[in-house]
Amino acid sequence: MFLPKMYQKNIYEIPYDKLKKEGIKCLVFDLDNTLRYIDEKEPSEQVIKLIRKLEKNFIVLILSNSLKKGVLSYKEKLQIDGIAHAKKPSIKGPKEIAKRYQLKPTEMAMIGDQLLTDILAGNRFGAYTIYVDALGNKDLKITYLNRFIEKRIINHYSRKGKFKRGAYYGK
Ligand SMILES: [Mg+2]
Repeated sequence: MFLPKMYQKNIYEIPYDKLKKEGIKCLVFDLDNTLRYIDEKEPSEQVIKLIRKLEKNFIVLILSNSLKKGVLSYKEKLQIDGIAHAKKPSIKGPKEIAKRYQLKPTEMAMIGDQLLTDILAGNRFGAYTIYVDALGNKDLKITYLNRFIEKRIINHYSRKGKFKRGAYYGK
């Protein structure tokens, strides 16, 4: 349930044309440490450029566990739809998006830097899941425990030869 279908270093390394060919219509990005460093208030030029490009081929959204205020201003500046306070690994968020845009779970890709929230939510929902390395070392306070558990999960998978930090796959 915690294993992503694809693992890449960051959102710029993801082979989006491959996703398109595989029938993905919607990209659901996590915010903190996926699109932005956690203390970044405004989207970087690089993010804006990527999102504008992706919008030509996909419905693009943000699904964040962060509280509304910070997410709202960021997504408004980025001019995309999104849901804050999503409580991932709850599947309420992806469900809401599927309903809003009339999508099947298999037409959605969920992209994020946490196995315990982003990837678990995506897998539970039946979406395509893409794990990326966290942009920064800093996390929100509530994430510290998740990171601790995540490390143990990765160690477990790593011993079984299923997943290794830095061993990217899925291109
Ligand atoms: Mg995150």
